[in-house]
Formats: sequence, C-alpha cells, structure tokens
Amino acid sequence: MTDPTRTYRPATLLVHGGTTRSQHGETAEALFLTSGFVYDSAEQAEATFANTVQHYQYSRFGNPTVAMLEERLALLEGAEACRATATGMAAVHAALLSHLKAGDRVVASRALFGSCHWIVSTLLPRYGIETVFVDGADLGAWRAALARPAQLVLLETPSNPMLDMVDLAAVADLAHAAGAIVVVDNVFATPLLQKPLEMGADVVVYSCTKHIDGQGRVLGGAVLGRAAWVDATLQPFLRNTGPALSPFNAWLLLKGLETLALRVDAASRGAAAVADFLAGRAEVRRTLYPLRDDHPQASLARRQMSGGGTLVTFEVAGGKAAAFALMNALRLIAVSNNLGDSKSLITHPATTTHMRIGAEERARLGITDGVLRLSVGLEDPADLMDDLRRGLDAAGGLSVPDTAAAD
Ligand SMILES: *Cc1c(COP(=O)(O)O)cnc(C)c1O
Repeated sequence: MTDPTRTYRPATLLVHGGTTRSQHGETAEALFLTSGFVYDSAEQAEATFANTVQHYQYSRFGNPTVAMLEERLALLEGAEACRATATGMAAVHAALLSHLKAGDRVVASRALFGSCHWIVSTLLPRYGIETVFVDGADLGAWRAALARPAQLVLLETPSNPMLDMVDLAAVADLAHAAGAIVVVDNVFATPLLQKPLEMGADVVVYSCTKHIDGQGRVLGGAVLGRAAWVDATLQPFLRNTGPALSPFNAWLLLKGLETLALRVDAASRGAAAVADFLAGRAEVRRTLYPLRDDHPQASLARRQMSGGGTLVTFEVAGGKAAAFALMNALRLIAVSNNLGDSKSLITHPATTTHMRIGAEERARLGITDGVLRLSVGLEDPADLMDDLRRGLDAAGGLSVPDTAAAD
C-alpha cells in the first residue's frame, strides 16, 4: 500500500503526515495512552505473534500514537522507516549497539555531543569494539582512518558547540568503501535544513527533545533508515531492550512537528541577525554561524544546508571571567545547557556540556574558556540584541583596567 501523503511537501507533511484516525473521526491525533492491547480471540492473538496478522501487542513494541510520529518523521526525512525512542541518547545508543558486535571498528568525528562522545570513547571499547576519533573537518584524517575496514561511522554536522561541518558525501563514500554504515546526528540542522540520507548517510538520529518538541517540554529521540535495517537490526534491539517513547510524549512531539517549519524559520532568521550583531562587537573575538561568509567552512555549509540553523557560537575576549560576566548580566536569555527551545538559552560549554571531556580534548576542539553557545528562540531578535548588549558591556568591563568609579 502506497501512502498518498508521500507526495506532499514538507510543510504539509508536518501537519498531516502519518495521521491515522480512530472510529471517532477526531481532527487532532488521538493519544493512545495504553500499555497493552486486547485481541478478539485466542486465534487472533496467536496470529499476531506469528506475524500473519497486523495487530498492536504491547506499547514497548509499538503504539498507534508513537507510530503516527514515526511515520510523520519518516515522510519528512525521506526515510523508509523510523523508530522513536525515549530520548535522543537512547536513539544514538540503539543505532550503534544494535549494529555493532565485539571485534568491530568504529570511526567517529571528535566533535560529538558529550554523551555520544562517551559512548564511543568509553562504552564501546568495554565490549571489544575498537573506536577511532578523527577531526571531522579533515578529509585526509577520515581517509586514513577508513583505509582499514570499519563497520560504522558516527558524525555530527554542524557539531556542538563549535558548529564544525563534516563533508557528508565525501565521508559517506570513504565509509562505504571501508564497509561501514554512516550514522548522522542531525540535531543541529533539524530535518528541515539538511538531508543526510540524500548525501549518502545510511541512518539519521535525532534528539526530538530539541527543535522537534521545541518548547522545552519532553524528551524523545528517533532513528531513521532503510526498512530492511530498521526491521532486521534496530527493531529487535528496541523491542527487547525497551527504550520506548511514552505515547504522551509522542503526542506532544506530533504537535511540535506541526509548527516545526515556522519555528525553525523564525529562530534561524533571529540567529542570523544575532550572529551579525555579535560579529560587529569589539568584545567578540570570533562568531561562528554556518551560513556567514567568515565561517571556516562556509562553502561546505552552503552546499549541505538550506539554512544556517538556530545556534550561534561566539568567543568573548577575557576568557571565563568575561563569559560568566556576560551570562550573569543577561535578563532575557536564560542560562541553560538545553537548546532548540522557543526560549533563547545560553551555555558555557567548557564548564558544563564539555566539562567532562577534559582540557586537552577541549583545546583540540577549539572550546576555549571564552566560548559561549547561544540557542536562539522565538523572541524578537531586537530584544535578544538588547540583552546581549548588556551582557557584552559587562564582559567588556572586565578587560579594561578597573576604574573603581565605574559604578
Ligand atoms: C541533546 C542532544 C543529544 C541527546 O539527546 P537527549 O534527548 O538529551 O537524550 C544528542 N545529540 C545532540 C547533538 C544533541 O544536541
């Protein structure tokens, strides 16, 4: 059966994709808050378990509300299949551990979300899986690491927090030649601004906690890929290990998707404006935003992304003291390590999200003590700039000689 909604454009898919109606004909997606399902007869139960009849069995394996979310995400991504998980980390963990076994080899870009970095550096080696980190922007490093056979490549582009780009098509070619599947963490780009599957990736993972919910309410995750891989490799792992998404959270994420394009578009325009503002300030050493001409990989960003996204990273002169002074002077933008919210949030990666990776690894990634990551929300950008001006004045006050009378 071909789903007629497959031909709709993204804005339409976000509102209608995957919707199934109950016998009551409700307009909104129904919330099936149920752990189990009943059968008409013992024979129907038998046939369901024998896979000769399609029937929901248990919400750890599948649930109608969760299935609507999975179908909507699959249509949006252009993926054959999707499975939703309780968190983004459950999605990354399941994508990796369902595919790998002892003796396998993983090549990953160094600039990964903190917990993804931990899975690759600490968890996988415990199970006899060899892992290699490379500088994601360096194609020569990918080529060298993938000169030997590997089973899986994990990367994030743009990366957290330095917004580094990985050349998806080039790395996918090298990975496939080495025998590896390519798993892309596409959280920063969102499903709207970058299409990894079209550039050669095999699996895409999301933290739905970020832009897909987008309103700071629930945790969720998703894994998308080919139907054969999802059915044979991922689904048995999920079914038997149990990182299932709550139907209630799936329902909120379906409602989040309805406004995803509007929110990502507005927040991205705000982020671009804020990046230009920051780049013009003397207290700011460096501003990183994917579609700005001064991004070190601007041409790659333009080739891979249809928009710059909602995150801006910048470095203030004066290190940690200046960065903290800036954050503490803000009244509108909140200090929080979350991102992709309708409320603007700022974090100091060196002392929070990237504290555990250590000073040496931070230095390698360019995460200095003056680096701040700003997740731009839906406020009026002019109010965000007023707030940042207050913060930058406070940060700048620290790098001029103390005048005592300044207050
Ligand atoms: C937040 C995030 C994750 C983890 O998602 P959770 O929903 O917090 O488990 C993974 N990768 C990236 C890039 C993220 O931003």
